[in-house]
Amino acid sequence: MPRLVMKFGGTSVADLARIEHTAGLVKREVDRGYDVIVIVSAMSGKTNELVGWVNDTSHLYDAREYDAVVSSGENVTAGLMSLRLQQMGIDARSWQGWQVPVHTTSAHGAARIEEIGTENLASKFEGEMQVAVVAGFQGLSPENRITTLGRGGSDTTAVAFAAAFGAERCDIYTDVDGIYTTDPRVAAKARKLDKIAYEEMLELASLGAKVLQTRSVELAMRYKVRLQVLSSFEDKPGTLVCDEEEIMESNVVSGVAFQRDEAKMTLISVADRPGIAAAIFGPLAEAGVNVDMIVQNISEEGRTDMTFSCPINQVARASKAMEDAKSAGSINYHALDADENVAKVSIVGIGMRSHAGVAQQMFKALADEGVNIKVITTSEIKVSVLIDRKYLELAVQSLHDAFALERAG
Ligand code: ASP
Ligand code: MG
Repeated sequence: MPRLVMKFGGTSVADLARIEHTAGLVKREVDRGYDVIVIVSAMSGKTNELVGWVNDTSHLYDAREYDAVVSSGENVTAGLMSLRLQQMGIDARSWQGWQVPVHTTSAHGAARIEEIGTENLASKFEGEMQVAVVAGFQGLSPENRITTLGRGGSDTTAVAFAAAFGAERCDIYTDVDGIYTTDPRVAAKARKLDKIAYEEMLELASLGAKVLQTRSVELAMRYKVRLQVLSSFEDKPGTLVCDEEEIMESNVVSGVAFQRDEAKMTLISVADRPGIAAAIFGPLAEAGVNVDMIVQNISEEGRTDMTFSCPINQVARASKAMEDAKSAGSINYHALDADENVAKVSIVGIGMRSHAGVAQQMFKALADEGVNIKVITTSEIKVSVLIDRKYLELAVQSLHDAFALERAG
C-alpha cells in the first residue's frame, strides 16, 4: 500500500472537536487506499505551559527532566487521535518516540534524529494496522532517556518518517493555507505560492517565516521528501515544497522574509591583525550567540571597526563575551556599540542565480522610499539588508511591489 505522512500542528489538535475534525481528514486518506502515519503535536499552548512549569520548578533545570516533562503533550494527542480514529472504524494505534523507536543524539532539548527503526511499524502495517499515530517531537537517547527535538520539532519528526518509510508525500497541516510570498499581515498583497523549491524554503524558514522548522526543510531537501503545507481548517490545496526541477515557471524573487528583533553590534577600533576575527567570533560562538551578518570596515592605521548582527535577546550575552575577552587580553577595542533598533529584510529566489542586477533593484526600491541600509549580505539566492526597525513594514511592502510578487511568474 502506498504510504502517506500527515502531520498536525497544535492548532489542528487544539481540543477534542479539532481532533475529531482532523481524524476525518485522516479517514479520507485511508479510504483512498493509503497506509497513513499521523504525526501529532501537543494541543496548542500545551508545550509552552509545560516549559513554564519546568522553569518555575527549577531555573537551572536538568535537561533530561525538561524533556521528560515537555515531551508529554504529544503523548496525550497521540492517544486521543488514535481513540477517535478507532471510533470511526479505523485500525489505529498510538506510538511514542521510544516505542517506534526514534533514535536520537543525547542533546536534550535539541536532539537530532539519527535513525528511525522501521520494523515495528512496518510489521503492524502488514497486519491489521491502517494508521500509526506517532507522538511528534520525541526520541530516545543512546542512554535510554526521552529526548525532544527542539521547538517546532514535530515537523522534523514528520519529514524523517516520510523519508524512512518512503512515503509518497508528507502533508504538514497547520492553521495557514500555505507558504506566502511574505507575511500577509505585513503586506496585504502577499500571494500564496503553489510550489517553492527546497532551497528557497530553507532560506525563508531560517529567515523567520515560521511555518516550518528549518531542520525539517533541510531533511526534506536531503532525502527529497515532497512536502505539502496546507490548512486543516479549509479544504483546499496548499503549497508544495519540492525540487526546483518540478517548478516550471517562477519569479526571479520568490519571497520577502524578515526578522524584526535584530541588533547591530559594533566593536569600535580593534587591532587589524591576523587572527582578530577568530579572537572575536570564537568567544561569541562559545557564549551561544547566533551571529548572522558580519562586516569588517576599512582599516586605518592598523585599527578597524567590526560590525555583526545577532538576535536582540542575545545582546547582553554578546556584550559580556566581548568584555570578558577584553579583560583576558585576547582582544582590545575602544568601545562596543549596540543598536537594538534594527530589523533584517531579505529577498529570496533561485532565479537570482541566472539574473544580474537583482540586488541593485532591491537597493533602488529601498532608496526610493528613503530607507537607509546599514549592513548588506548576499548569497547565491538571497540578499539581506539591515535597516531601522521603524521602516520594516514599508521596506517589505515596497520590495513586494518592486518585484511584482503579487503576480505569479
Ligand atoms: N509541541 C512542540 C512545540 O510546541 C513541538 C511541535 O509542535 O512541533 O514546540
Ligand atoms: Mg509548528
